[in-house]
Amino acid sequence: MKDRCSVCDLKFDRAPGYYLGSIYVNYGLTALLVTACFLALFVTDTLSPEAQLAICTAFCVLFPLWFFRYARALWLGFDLYWDRRQLTDEERRQSEQA
Ligand SMILES: [Zn+2]
Repeated sequence: MKDRCSVCDLKFDRAPGYYLGSIYVNYGLTALLVTACFLALFVTDTLSPEAQLAICTAFCVLFPLWFFRYARALWLGFDLYWDRRQLTDEERRQSEQA
């Protein structure tokens, strides 16, 4: 992960443990999507239960790995959107120009 944004110079490494909340974002979306996927597979009844389980298990392992960086970006975006006091004066000026 880069230290700062190359466009607006926003500092990404906010504080130790800052991105812990992104795990909840990642987990929540994974649980929501796998539930929807399971229900769709269950209702359509086109695959065996073993195949359904294999697909859902693979999704639960692979999706969070792929979504990891996007969950962090969402966490940072949500946090800075709701609490702009964390931004330095320079970062606040940069975000208002964009
Ligand atoms: Zn930026």
